[in-house]
Amino acid sequence: MSTQYISTEESLRQAGFLVKNRELLGDGKKYHIITFGCQLNDNDSEKMAGQMEAMNLLEAEELAEADLVVINTCSIRENAAGRFFGHLGIIKNLRKDKPNLLVAVCGCMMKQEVHVDKIRRSYPFVDMVFGPQDIYRFPELLNRRLEGSRRVYDVGMEDTVAEGVPVRRERKFRALSTIMYGCNNFCSYCVVPYARGRERSRHQAEVLAELKALADEGFSEVMLLGQNVNSYGKDLPASNEQGNFVELLTKAAEQSGLKRIRFMSSHPKDISLDLLDTIAAHPNIERHIHFALQSGSNEILKAMNRKYTAEHFLNLLAEARKRIPDISITTDIIVGFPGETEEDFQDTLRVVREAGFDQAFTFQYSPRPGTPAAKLEEVPADVMTERFNRLVEVQNENSLRAHERLVGETVEVLIEGLSDHSESSLTGRDSAYHLINFTLDEEVFAELGLAETDWVRRGQALEGRFAQVKITDAKTFSLQGELVGLAPQGRVG
Ligand code: SF4
Repeated sequence: MSTQYISTEESLRQAGFLVKNRELLGDGKKYHIITFGCQLNDNDSEKMAGQMEAMNLLEAEELAEADLVVINTCSIRENAAGRFFGHLGIIKNLRKDKPNLLVAVCGCMMKQEVHVDKIRRSYPFVDMVFGPQDIYRFPELLNRRLEGSRRVYDVGMEDTVAEGVPVRRERKFRALSTIMYGCNNFCSYCVVPYARGRERSRHQAEVLAELKALADEGFSEVMLLGQNVNSYGKDLPASNEQGNFVELLTKAAEQSGLKRIRFMSSHPKDISLDLLDTIAAHPNIERHIHFALQSGSNEILKAMNRKYTAEHFLNLLAEARKRIPDISITTDIIVGFPGETEEDFQDTLRVVREAGFDQAFTFQYSPRPGTPAAKLEEVPADVMTERFNRLVEVQNENSLRAHERLVGETVEVLIEGLSDHSESSLTGRDSAYHLINFTLDEEVFAELGLAETDWVRRGQALEGRFAQVKITDAKTFSLQGELVGLAPQGRVG
């Protein structure tokens, strides 16, 4: 199926539904979005929030205050699916006291008929069901419901790319920009190619225009998103200066005016030396790459259909560190993939030790219905848990060692706000995506005119601002530091 690029005509048609819905909804109504899963889902939710605000809806902090609830689902892991149905149970009770509450469900799970059937049978109060490719049609689908349709279940099968959808950015300093949709890789455990369709890239000019606009609006950092950004552009015609990911990244770094550019995710089979050189040559591309290892055993990598070997992976890491000495490397690892023996697991431990990842996101395998791996015999749960604990122990040592190397250095931190763990310290990330907590002297707050304000307001006032921070202490998951100076540039509040 070929990609459907949404035309200006279609965008205007959707804008017409925004206007009609504004009238049908009336004033003072509120929306609440519950988002599961990855940053791609976060960005989709930002687009639905943008559409709802264009319909004059206000954001409800609490679910109970909402007149329209949207749940954006994820089918990557079993527990996200379980939590989704848990939330539907809560909404079922809420709806008893609030019969006019509108409930919309979207995202990857809706591309699987088994889940849509379950909603139809067991949660009949759900008003709207649509898929990840239908986000741009949300105003139209809502209009059908508001105009009297009892239920609007309409999961589109087209692979679409829509531009010009209104966006309400969740953060004031870090924006998300989805540069491509879908995936062609068919890793044997993963539902994404079935749920999100084949790879389709946005046109380069559209992405660059968005990045420039974000920089002009005052965003310091943008994260470029795709299931495998290294495939960006492969589906586009070679004409019209579309280019590949390296070209897009180079132009983004040189033309957008952004202070920091990040990207996520990169499949190790597709990471090129050109990409590493591009990062090395541009200080505003962050010093961080997420290389998803998944397993250190070549047998298991083959069964996962990952199309690289542990040796290739380690060579790539060595090249990255040679070309970009201050790079930090994070990874994903699945423990207990069907058929994983103790020997296979030992291979994973060996690669993890050798790779010395800064951080790893570790998961116990859970079968996803409809994937080839779901038909294979599972590793017993107790074996999986025991291996998982051993892996976490090895990785925690890596993380602590990587953090200890930074003690005494001064790094530039983009302030994200108050630390979750201490009410009187600020938190942020450096260019290598390390999490850094630090405190400021009262004199600094006085100079900033924040002497009398509480910590919450202090955090909000400094959000998005850059600080030079000297690292004083290393922990497994974060670093502690002290302020050296606040940069004059950057955006405040
Ligand atoms: S690269 Fe593999 S794991 Fe990642 S989204 Fe595509 S199929 Fe899933």
